[in-house]
Amino acid sequence: MKHVVEVHNVGMKYQSLNGEITALDQIDFSIRDGEFVSIVGPSGCGKSTLLSIISGLLSSTSGSVFILGEKVTGVSLKIGYMLQKDHLFDWRTIYQNVMLGLEIRKAATSEAKEHALKLLKTYGLYEFKDKYPNQLSGGMRQRVALIRTLVTDPQILLLDEAFSALDYQTRLAVNDDIHAIIKKENKTALLVTHDISESISMSDRVILLSKRPGTVKNIYKIKLSGDSRTPLSSREDPEFRRFFQEIWKGLDVHV
Ligand code: ADP
Ligand code: MG
Repeated sequence: MKHVVEVHNVGMKYQSLNGEITALDQIDFSIRDGEFVSIVGPSGCGKSTLLSIISGLLSSTSGSVFILGEKVTGVSLKIGYMLQKDHLFDWRTIYQNVMLGLEIRKAATSEAKEHALKLLKTYGLYEFKDKYPNQLSGGMRQRVALIRTLVTDPQILLLDEAFSALDYQTRLAVNDDIHAIIKKENKTALLVTHDISESISMSDRVILLSKRPGTVKNIYKIKLSGDSRTPLSSREDPEFRRFFQEIWKGLDVHV
């Protein structure tokens, strides 16, 4: 499998009124096609900064990022970005929300519209297409946000704390739901989370960042015993606990 994301020696320094802040230092890793990778690390260690750099929204002060072998110089259609807030517009219907990215890109062709309707059907939202976001549950809204991202057909999905606004039970269900959709659509995913359990249950590998300036402290290859695991069933795997303890130790949490 070839690498679809390559991060080479990325560093980031912000200039602020109080001087310079080094957010990231010599970040180096790659992601293979179809892989699901999570990034965990203490708050403020530069996780969101790193995703913004990979997405091309922000340029790093050193190092470089390659997406499908091409150096990132700006935002790319190959990448879909999902944030903690679903950013659905209350005054647009579900269908209109899903179509927004395509409209902005002037890419709302009849083919694209069909693709949008097909995704809504496949993922159980077709009957809700003319409803408004406030008529949907948190989990369904998150699914709409994912479909809005998928409809532009990105190969790589970046998810920044995409589930943290949901209550615990909903989050477990949405983890399963979104993981299944990402796998079915054959996407490569990079999820930022501060939740160790979420990272182990969703991912093939977990990248642990140190506290600021964020550096790669460790990379864990998650190998659980069940083969057809889902994020929910993973949590019952006997190996799950071992990974949790290892990452917890690595995070070095103090209160
Ligand atoms: P995380 O997502 O891991 O919580 P961030 O990437 O948001 O961390 O931020 C990393 C560090 O960089 C923090 O100390 C934050 O205050 C600082 N930072 C983030 N954005 C800016 C900015 N635009 N200007 C100055 N400092 C920033
Ligand atoms: Mg963040």
